[in-house]
Amino acid sequence: NKEEFQCIGCGAVIQTENPSEAGYLPASALAKGMDDGNFYCQRCFRLRHYNELQDLTIDDDVFLEKLSAISEDEDALIINVVDIFDVEGSLINGLRRFVGNQPIVVAANKFDLLPKVTKENRVKHWLKQVLHQNGLQAEDVFLISANKKHTLEPLIELIKKAVLSKNIYIVGVTNVGKSTLINQLIAYFGGEKEIITTSNHPGTTLDMIRIPLTEEHAIVDTPGIVHRTQLAHYLNRDEIKTLLPTKPLKPMTFQLNPDQTIFIGAAARVDFTRGKRASFTYYVSKDATLHRTKTEGAEEFYLKHRGELLSPPFKDTLENFPELVSRTIQLKPDYDVAISGLGWFTVNEPVEIVIWTPKGVALSIREAII
Ligand code: GDP
Repeated sequence: NKEEFQCIGCGAVIQTENPSEAGYLPASALAKGMDDGNFYCQRCFRLRHYNELQDLTIDDDVFLEKLSAISEDEDALIINVVDIFDVEGSLINGLRRFVGNQPIVVAANKFDLLPKVTKENRVKHWLKQVLHQNGLQAEDVFLISANKKHTLEPLIELIKKAVLSKNIYIVGVTNVGKSTLINQLIAYFGGEKEIITTSNHPGTTLDMIRIPLTEEHAIVDTPGIVHRTQLAHYLNRDEIKTLLPTKPLKPMTFQLNPDQTIFIGAAARVDFTRGKRASFTYYVSKDATLHRTKTEGAEEFYLKHRGELLSPPFKDTLENFPELVSRTIQLKPDYDVAISGLGWFTVNEPVEIVIWTPKGVALSIREAII
């Protein structure tokens, strides 16, 4: 029988196997502290000593169960961090149901990646629509860049006000920038002083970390949820770097005739099926290869070159990549076709297109945001 220890910070059971799960402590550190049996898990240790929060991941069903505890016995504000490039992919199914009537605000992160000329009000309008379609009534939407302090001011103002009467829960799926945001908030609110981690109901709020701002209320960081419909979920580290934008997008325009096709790596394909000669402008990561070919041979071309000339995804991850499924769209100018996680494109003439996207990855048509 192995002896069980609990982290004295967050209450999680100490384990030495999985660094990305709650209660992780390297075996060497466990051995060292055996005498008094008082352990901080690595995550709490870092938070205490370096005011730095490590990411922790969890499956969504486990997470939602934990969240449902909030709805009953306290006043709370939920801040849901989403990735502005993958809004659909970063939504948490059932969030509204699990938090009851608690107010939710959405912080749409990575706004810095959109071209400078992007119209903020149109982005907000579109965001609210997507949230609404997905059953998430948000009180407000903030466009932020977690890595740029000055963009956080309105959100920080909201937090300052809300924390006088309630706890603030920060929720989000992995890779949306939740840790980056939390670390900014810690720096802002914590300053130089040590932030104490405590668990208010030991045993029930395992792996939720409290960052107290007042005597009574705190910002609570919740574990990042691993989300299966996120495009990032199907890619390896290198591919994520290549395909998901990390620098502001630069538009790339193609003059196309009907019966021509554009591939976005091997991750998506757009066939121009009907209309006058038109320009298609793509806003995707500058490292994603855009390739033009004739629609007639496109299928064969795809089968032959995917994973190589057409990449990412590359050869070794293609196997796990969802199949591409098609949809016909009548597209007007002044609208964007946004592929969740990848980017979007626009046209300057009305056209008919057939668009192929990975099964399960959301597609949305919105008023152009530029
Ligand atoms: P978490 O998994 O939600 O905690 O996400 P992280 O904070 O680890 O961030 C995920 C990725 O997004 C990292 O590569 C970050 O550098 C990047 N990221 C986070 N915030 C921003 C932002 O405001 N702008 C941009 N461009 N990238 C960001």
